[in-house]
Amino acid sequence: MHRSEMEARVPCAGCGAAIADDSRSFAFGENQLLCWGCALRRGGSFDAEEDQWSTDPRTDDLMAEES
Ligand SMILES: [Zn+2]
Repeated sequence: MHRSEMEARVPCAGCGAAIADDSRSFAFGENQLLCWGCALRRGGSFDAEEDQWSTDPRTDDLMAEES
């Protein structure tokens, strides 16, 4: 059994890359994720000591459209 194949992982909303369970990412909106690289490129700043984002990356252009 491949656990990774059993779970539906949300791809990065910025570049579409698969985000591994154990890699840092930025969660926003409704079940959306930005990969580490995209979050930093979008102005995000991660505080490793606090283990949280001190500055949120810009995601206003990525919010899922209401249909
Ligand atoms: Zn990305």
